[in-house]
Amino acid sequence: MAASVVVSVSIVLLLVPLLGGHPDGPGFWMSVLCPMVIGGPASLWQFHQKDVILRQRDELARMHVELEDMHGELRRLHEDLRFKARRDALTGGLNREALFSTLGQLGPAHRGPAALLVADADHFKRINDAFGHLVGDDALRRIASCIAEATMAADVWGRIGGEEFVIFLQPADGTRARAVADAMRQTVADVDLVVDGCRVPISVSIGVASIVDSFDPVDAFRRADEYLYQAKAGGRDRIVFDGQELDPLAA
Ligand code: GH3
Ligand code: MG
Ligand code: MG
Repeated sequence: MAASVVVSVSIVLLLVPLLGGHPDGPGFWMSVLCPMVIGGPASLWQFHQKDVILRQRDELARMHVELEDMHGELRRLHEDLRFKARRDALTGGLNREALFSTLGQLGPAHRGPAALLVADADHFKRINDAFGHLVGDDALRRIASCIAEATMAADVWGRIGGEEFVIFLQPADGTRARAVADAMRQTVADVDLVVDGCRVPISVSIGVASIVDSFDPVDAFRRADEYLYQAKAGGRDRIVFDGQELDPLAA
């Protein structure tokens, strides 16, 4: 404020005589009082404005961080939704659409050796009828655990309908395909699910189609499904591999 008084008085003392006037008493005091009357509130207003701007800038920065957090949360929710949309809620495997679309994407560009397995729970209706649907659900979860345990990260598996699972093993020569199918069949048969002192008899029949060269998902599924029906017709709790019934591997 002192500076504005000095400037104002200097203007009056220097410019007024140059313009032919006289910096007389009231004029001189006006040049002293005016900057003091205007300068005080003007400076206060300026400080206040600066404070407002600083607070608005802090608020904007805080809102920016909040927006970034919300954006991150949305991205996580979106990924979560995408993951869930592809999953079978009961077993945690892929659902039918996701499984067939994954296999379709692999398509003929995929080179063997690989194997496609179709596994179906045996006499599952009887399990539901005897123990109830919730126990049936539990049995399906236990079958899915056996499949997950027997497969590796590169393999693809899912539930394609009620009590039917598809497993794509890659890479898998005949030895691996056989070992995995046998491990699944055996571990499912060993599941110890007991309800009211009664053991729930769980088993699966499995059809295995080997893929030696290019992969045709439709043809492989058709073959594996046909072998599954042979396994059912042969008595269930067994594996038919490329049309041949397998003897259980020695434990
Ligand atoms: P098979 O050995 O010939 O395969 O006989 P199955 O009784 O297993 O076959 P069927 O097709 O006659 O019956 C399948 C049963 O699976 C009938 C259905 O109620 C049951 N099921 C399908 N989906 C589910 C499910 O998500 N949970 C439960 N608990 N049961 C299911
Ligand atoms: Mg069945
Ligand atoms: Mg079935």
